[in-house]
Amino acid sequence: MITRNYNISTRMSKLPNVGTTIFTVMSKLASDYGAINLSQGFPNFPVDEKLTTILKDISSDSVHQYMPMAGYPPLLEKIGRTVSESYGRTLDPNKELLITAGATQGIFTALQAFISKGQEVIILDPSYDCYEPAVILAGGKSIRIPLNPDFTPNWEVIEAAFTVNTAMIIVNNPHNPSGRILNNSDLEKLEAILDKYPDVILMSDEVYEYITFEEKHISANTRPKLKDKTIIISSFGKTFHITGWKIGYIVAPENLMIEIKKVHQFLVFCVNSVAQVALSTYLDEVNVNELGPFYQDKRDLFQNLMKESRFKLLPSEGSYFQVASFAAISIESDVEFAKRLVLEYGVATIPMSVFNADGRDDKLIRFCYAKDTETLTKAAIQLCKI
Ligand code: PMP
Ligand code: GLN
Repeated sequence: MITRNYNISTRMSKLPNVGTTIFTVMSKLASDYGAINLSQGFPNFPVDEKLTTILKDISSDSVHQYMPMAGYPPLLEKIGRTVSESYGRTLDPNKELLITAGATQGIFTALQAFISKGQEVIILDPSYDCYEPAVILAGGKSIRIPLNPDFTPNWEVIEAAFTVNTAMIIVNNPHNPSGRILNNSDLEKLEAILDKYPDVILMSDEVYEYITFEEKHISANTRPKLKDKTIIISSFGKTFHITGWKIGYIVAPENLMIEIKKVHQFLVFCVNSVAQVALSTYLDEVNVNELGPFYQDKRDLFQNLMKESRFKLLPSEGSYFQVASFAAISIESDVEFAKRLVLEYGVATIPMSVFNADGRDDKLIRFCYAKDTETLTKAAIQLCKI
């Protein structure tokens, strides 16, 4: 007789291979050992005083009850205006915008809306960690395709991954964790592939849209061939240094948005009212175009401080991440190396292999430079000792 020993916890788990995210692990390690935390991506400097003043001012107004399901109408209007000013795209705020509880909820909601059993979603590795679990929970299958070693896409390899079951491709631009951005030729190649697969939806995760440097971000919002089939994911967390507020939005054509809203209304119904009212006022007082130069200064400072180190820094064209090779320093795995950096040098980083389906370890770690000058300086002093 064959007895089957089910591991109950594995059998019941819908995500048997998922543990605690690397961001939680490394931030906890940093806090346990009092290390400088350049791991999880979040700013450590104060948010704009204009925003905190607005927050204080509105807190005694009647802003504390449910919002309309898709979002506070003035906020939707102002996002529409910002998208129009930034990308020249005219949106119908009532039909093509949805406020979400951070980009994460936007991603999850859109995948729930469109992915069902047997459908495939192409994800480019190294990939942000919430994509694959959200695909799996929707019943879909993730097809993880590696980017080139320099993190540029190999469109031939990507195209070869398309099948009759492909329902969606997720592209993240500017890219976390690599800090690379897509150029015009990349977008043209993507458009050509999607022309051949007209039923495939593009999810364009553009949460770092306003953080690019020498070359400007090319949004799917600006591409006539893409915008009718694309779900664009944005996050106020990145744009206004408020990752803890967990608020963002989706831009999508009406036919896609109708389906997304069906899920959204049962997943959260509506998003934090106070944050929505505050941001709608703040959008009149802030210039998103200042964000690029702001972070470019931080990137340049960190890169200069690291010149004396034995790390080899890779290009950081956008986002607030800097990838570095430690191949000249150690043959340890990137996870071991990152742990040792915390214990022996007091700096927490993110090992890049965790973003690869096959665990590929190219001896790379990711630094977050969304930090004040003092933090970046202290971290670099430590890192130059290695
Ligand atoms: N996508 C990417 C590429 C990210 O880096 C992040 C967060 N850091 C998210 C989505 C999630 O953003 P949010 O915190 O707004 O949910
Ligand atoms: N997106 C952030 C990063 O890449 C982390 C967000 C989170 O902890 N889930 O570091």
